[in-house]
Amino acid sequence: MLSHEQQTSIVSYPQCDTYAWYSQRAWVEIDLAALSHNVKQLRQLLSQKTQLMAVVKADAYGHGAVSVAKTVLESGASWLGVATVPEGIQLREAGIKPPILVLGAAQTTEQIHAIAHWELEPTLCSPKQALVFSDILETIDVDATLPVHVKLDTGMSRLGTNWQQAVEFIQLVERLPHLRIASIYSHLATADSPDPTIMNLQHQRFEDAIAQIKALGIEPPCLHFANSAGTLTNKALHYDMVRTGLAIYGHYPAEHLRHTVNLKPVMQVKARVTQVKNIAAGTGVSYGYRYIAPHDIRLAVVGIGYADGIPRNLSNKMQVLIRGQLVPQIGSITMDQIMLDVSNISDIQEGEVVTLLGQDRDRQITADDWANELGTISWEILCSFKHRLPRVAAD
Ligand SMILES: *Cc1c(COP(=O)(O)O)cnc(C)c1O
Repeated sequence: MLSHEQQTSIVSYPQCDTYAWYSQRAWVEIDLAALSHNVKQLRQLLSQKTQLMAVVKADAYGHGAVSVAKTVLESGASWLGVATVPEGIQLREAGIKPPILVLGAAQTTEQIHAIAHWELEPTLCSPKQALVFSDILETIDVDATLPVHVKLDTGMSRLGTNWQQAVEFIQLVERLPHLRIASIYSHLATADSPDPTIMNLQHQRFEDAIAQIKALGIEPPCLHFANSAGTLTNKALHYDMVRTGLAIYGHYPAEHLRHTVNLKPVMQVKARVTQVKNIAAGTGVSYGYRYIAPHDIRLAVVGIGYADGIPRNLSNKMQVLIRGQLVPQIGSITMDQIMLDVSNISDIQEGEVVTLLGQDRDRQITADDWANELGTISWEILCSFKHRLPRVAAD
């Protein structure tokens, strides 16, 4: 827990850069030392020639893109991956210089102008998109050459040209003015599964496509394939670069990959008790009375709710940590507040800090715990916290 006296920097808080985080009702704590540790752990898995792209899309999975980007670049990452053009611009505006790959499919004139202006590197997914890029770049500057990243669909059925058309696609991009192929890549659909069958099939398709391209005398300058799960699963998928998101934030893509590296969760979510009261047996709590006190209890109200990103479907199902003890949440989660049964915490005070996600003494509540309860994945939990919660650096 951070003390009030500690000088702590705000990681990301659009409403106000200098807001005193400790006066907040709720916040997200970001452990940049853990982030750095995770990047170094992943680097140890990679050979010297393999670069590490830190995927910082969606505001770095909710962790605050600019400070995350700066930290990972100091810790061994050499590329950044974003999903959208504005996400890339945000990093450039913050003075971040290393290459930034836009993983999504940009195609409008405005997006292409912005990519060229901010020196972002686009993904090319189809011959049509390649033609559009070449045409628009011609109108910007007849001498312009943009590094582009050719995406092959080897089985994800999302972005990219089908691997069987890889040769025609690459030949077209090679011929078009203003485009220079900086890499060829693909994306895995099932790398987090203990059954490698589909991953191996995708790997084989990628290998086949690359072999055909090389047979034409084209030497791809950089190949990349693996997300976090692929990186942790099989070194043969590392190629010249890996694109890791989840793992740099300290979470494992699957239980069976836990033994591979030692990762530390970067994010914690905390809030304060705002009121404490006694509730008699039989009293209903919160909207819809989905909780009725079975006996006299002591109830605490905490200033965080679903508008901050606490999933309402966790109502009556989640626990929080106070002084290292697990405490049940009771009744419907509301927009801005939740209630707890704090009968087992002696003399609880208003203002006390509650850990919703993270470590308190020797207990931990993880994004996986929430994801398992909700039938979703930790990626979605991390991305769900709203910007009403300031991101503050923990140390
Ligand atoms: C999001 C994304 C990644 C990172 O995935 P993780 O599972 O979080 O490591 C890698 N590549 C592409 C194309 C992505 O969209």
